[in-house]
Amino acid sequence: MENEHVKLIIKKIRETVSKPMLKKLDLDKCERVVEKLYSFTDCEECQHLFHELTNHLNQLESNVDKIADHECKQLKQFIEHTVSHLQKKHKFVAEGHYLAIYMSIGMSFGLVFGLTLFDNIAMGLPLGMGIGIAIGASLDADAKNKGKTI
Ligand SMILES: [Zn+2]
Repeated sequence: MENEHVKLIIKKIRETVSKPMLKKLDLDKCERVVEKLYSFTDCEECQHLFHELTNHLNQLESNVDKIADHECKQLKQFIEHTVSHLQKKHKFVAEGHYLAIYMSIGMSFGLVFGLTLFDNIAMGLPLGMGIGIAIGASLDADAKNKGKTI
């Protein structure tokens, strides 16, 4: 079972299912995950997950005309499970990961500085948030450049 083969299955599913189902399945994410799993040939867990995912996709493809909601859910759960392995073991981050973190850090700092330095929360908060967003966005962009985004 090779990478290209899995991509072909995904392509077939994508061409066949209805639009709402396509949205539910989130095949783009699925495809990114497949590629990442495939690249870690030395990680046993990744290889295992790759095979499992292939089985899931094969099953979906075999009755692509009538994919049930629970099957769709199963695939999504499996992808989430896989993503968490990639994040923990291989240091991948979700898109917008740093933005969310730094925005909240920025807001906390903004709040503190707003209260102490400026004696004005209304000024500190957006300033802190703005700086947080700037840092977070650049880290996200960096992660994306390095191919570390899922
Ligand atoms: Zn792995």
